[in-house]
Amino acid sequence: MKHVLGLLIMFCLLMPAFPTTVACDDSGPKVVPAGNGIEALFQDDFSQGLARWNPPPAGAWDVQNQELQGSSDGILGMISAGDSAWTDYVFSVHVRNREGLVYAVLVRWQDPDNYYRVVLKQDHFEFWLRRSGDEQLLYRESPWGFSTAMDEWHEVKVKLYGVVPTIEAYIDGQPEITVKDLSGRSISSGVIGLAVEAGVLSFFDDVKVATLHPDIAGPYSIILLLVEFPDVKHTQSPQQMYDKIFPALNRYYTEVSYNLTWINGQVTPEWKVLQKPSTYYDISTITGSGWQKGRTVEFIADAIHVWDGEVDYRKYDYVFVAGPRDSVWGYAETCCLQISTDDGITITRGSGERENYDWRTYAHELGHIFSLPDLYSYEIAFSGPRDWREAAIYVGPWDLMSRSDDRPQIGAWGKIKLGWIPPGRILELLPGQQGAIATIDPLETQTSGIQSIIVYLNATTYFLIENRQPIGFDKVLPDKGVLVSYVDEAKCWRGDGPVVVQDASPETGPRWQLLHPTLDIAPGKRDRLANQTYDLAIGLLGKQGDSYKITVGNPSFVDTSYPPQQNQLEPMSIIAVSPVLVALVILGIYVARRRKARATLG
Ligand SMILES: [Zn+2]
Repeated sequence: MKHVLGLLIMFCLLMPAFPTTVACDDSGPKVVPAGNGIEALFQDDFSQGLARWNPPPAGAWDVQNQELQGSSDGILGMISAGDSAWTDYVFSVHVRNREGLVYAVLVRWQDPDNYYRVVLKQDHFEFWLRRSGDEQLLYRESPWGFSTAMDEWHEVKVKLYGVVPTIEAYIDGQPEITVKDLSGRSISSGVIGLAVEAGVLSFFDDVKVATLHPDIAGPYSIILLLVEFPDVKHTQSPQQMYDKIFPALNRYYTEVSYNLTWINGQVTPEWKVLQKPSTYYDISTITGSGWQKGRTVEFIADAIHVWDGEVDYRKYDYVFVAGPRDSVWGYAETCCLQISTDDGITITRGSGERENYDWRTYAHELGHIFSLPDLYSYEIAFSGPRDWREAAIYVGPWDLMSRSDDRPQIGAWGKIKLGWIPPGRILELLPGQQGAIATIDPLETQTSGIQSIIVYLNATTYFLIENRQPIGFDKVLPDKGVLVSYVDEAKCWRGDGPVVVQDASPETGPRWQLLHPTLDIAPGKRDRLANQTYDLAIGLLGKQGDSYKITVGNPSFVDTSYPPQQNQLEPMSIIAVSPVLVALVILGIYVARRRKARATLG
């Protein structure tokens, strides 16, 4: 199955490479956040027993071998720690079970009758609210199709923010799903807690609570290992490889992250020859046998080992490996490599690349390493379109993770995921809210103003509004203006479009091109759209500089401030799939789930 994921990866890479005109410079960011902006609120490795924890109201809790052991024989066992005034924070803990198939953590815990409970049940998350003793299921995720090994250590992380909280759940650093509490009974502050259900025996370690911060912040160092095969040799020097990749890669991530993160790249001083021929790995095309045989992992591992004597891997966050010419199709292993090095560390993420790629493929794969998913259609990519760009039916050329050939910016959805757009720059409308008038600043520039508007439909779906202007890397966009997307968080990892741009001018070209999807105040452009299904309208009231004044909400609210026009748009919810693709679709979903099972992705 792995190779199919590899395929997906590849599609981005197959794009024709155009000479870049971007001037390369190696300058770092202008603003360096102190300590990456992270403030630790609480840490415990249980070396001091339970000294920092409140007396547990239920369950049996004991520290042994500097690990917390929790069990319960009947009711939910729980234990808490921290400051009851905590509101927005990131809470992570390592957990493994000896008995039972459930991990559970508590956030905004006020007392045994008031808290949120985030539950990982082997193959899906559940989000529960307990309020005044009543249990309410906020959201139950669909099963992923694979099982988490509950008897192994995993990091469960929960990020939550907002008076009406947004709750994000992660496993082993990978964002799994984001849920909004729309119960009307929100809890706005509270401590963290650990929980065990009846019949579960869990071990906990390395509890950390920190202020809300970007997931990806500060410098990231990458070593690019150059390796060739007995049967395929390189053509470019290490210096040429460095020059075409790292200055632009650094410039790109510095810009799209608002100077929050940047890239320090190094390239090995020569190409080393692996023992096995390229035909052994067979990962040069998407149909190569190597994808099923795990050779993508083997390729990275062999490269790491052949360079181990000379490279100190402790100095780098990530390893990229380039094979000669076109011998390797680009891919990313995003969490669960287990490659031990002479330096005493284990490498868990890495990317395979080819000599002939330019920096854009590296940027896309680094997006995966940073935990962003692909935003193009796996279904179409699997079907072997004549033009690989045809798979970009959801977001077109408006996001690096949809189409890297044009290297646009990462869109608002990805920037929110990575924490580069903090909650304070997001305006949220909840269901039932009449509407709002707001000014939205360009996505591309640093601002203290609003950069995203989210209109919630339910706990996991919403409309996302952003303002895209031809600034910096977004100069490649085919148009500018206010971009509206329909987001389904439950599709986050299935390659079937968690983000779907709402095309304001579908008559202007094929869906995958998305030439003029934006609203704008300009001749020939629409400046209002409405969605009858969701009783939602968006109108542009004015433009100042590159910012737009927007009215958004139910149509009657919007009509009071703006005259209605004729642009009625429906969110694209069903992608036409020909019968011959059905098997591929099923395969795609299966493979996407496998990806969650730590398969290769592309
Ligand atoms: Zn990809």
